[in-house]
Amino acid sequence: MNLNNCPYDETLIDAENYSGGSFLLSCSACGAEWEMHNSLVRRITEPDREAAAVARSNADLVRSMASA
Ligand SMILES: [Zn+2]
Repeated sequence: MNLNNCPYDETLIDAENYSGGSFLLSCSACGAEWEMHNSLVRRITEPDREAAAVARSNADLVRSMASA
């Protein structure tokens, strides 16, 4: 599992260093959070589906404007 972008809304994910070699990954758009240890990723907070849908449609809008 490669978590550079949120799987729900494609927002770039923030990574925060935990102690002990773990990372806390969080999406600023939908609020989903994951804990990563070695190569294991575990979701610890459910995304806000509505916020994810809004962020996704905004990203689509930006893309369509950029290609226009
Ligand atoms: Zn997200």
